[in-house]
Amino acid sequence: MKIVKTIKEVRAQVAEWRKQGLTVGLVPTMGYLHEGHASLIERSVKENDRTVVSDFVNPMQFGPTEDLQTYPRDLQHDAMLVEQYGGDIIFNPEPEEMYKDGFSSFVDMTVLTQELCGLSRPVHFRGVCTVVTKLFNIVKPDNAYFGKKDAQQLAVIKHMVEDLNMDIKITGCPIVRESDGLAKSSRNTYLSEKERQAALVLSRSIDLGKNMVKNGEKDCAAVIKAMTDLINSEPLARIDYVKIVDEKTMQQIPALDRPALCAIAVYIGTTRLIDNFFTEDI
Ligand code: AMP
Repeated sequence: MKIVKTIKEVRAQVAEWRKQGLTVGLVPTMGYLHEGHASLIERSVKENDRTVVSDFVNPMQFGPTEDLQTYPRDLQHDAMLVEQYGGDIIFNPEPEEMYKDGFSSFVDMTVLTQELCGLSRPVHFRGVCTVVTKLFNIVKPDNAYFGKKDAQQLAVIKHMVEDLNMDIKITGCPIVRESDGLAKSSRNTYLSEKERQAALVLSRSIDLGKNMVKNGEKDCAAVIKAMTDLINSEPLARIDYVKIVDEKTMQQIPALDRPALCAIAVYIGTTRLIDNFFTEDI
């Protein structure tokens, strides 16, 4: 397993693999890897001859008041995890390697980014689309793997690949959770012990919503109200959004009459956490 810092080195390595007729999978991450990331790496290793894990805290996808400076980083630990799960390269560029002086080209998206996290984080998806396009152009993978944890991101990337005719298969992987239900996230490290307990209200409300849908509830407002009431019963929680949207368009829907995504974003103290379920996965 190699840690690579430059675009030139990644390209040279991938070109060598291509000469040997090998397939390549890409797992884009911001590092501080945990079992959620590991599940993506495992899947890529299973389905491709070689796997590149990008490990880059992308400044472009953070808003001015967000946690770019404090975002946790631990490259040595990441390297151990990638090695353990059979990845071949960690691509860990400095921001200057990805964004040279004078950088001024962007990939952006309308419609799908106008709901959910796109509303609360106005520059986020432009940063995501731009960096993922760059990573696709650098690595030229056959397959790329994204977590359903970031459900809107997954929908946006799938749509971008289709819109822009990128010849890459996108695979969405299930959410990996702690044993008590909390979705694994690099940002969980921000939580105090008390907040960590309070954060369970996210997965509990997801379970509640899932059960209602499983038992035949079709009215989105009823599901949203029950989940909202549960989250509001936790004093440390502050809701950013609880919404149900069409799985493909990410637009809100009144009734569960098509494949849908139920997504929540909740502040626990100052930490913003997300969770969700797809009705098709129930
Ligand atoms: P991040 O490093 O948070 O940008 O995440 C990198 C990739 O890992 C994204 O595709 C995420 O959706 C995915 N991911 C993060 N947490 C989880 C999780 N708990 N389960 C599954 N995938 C995850």
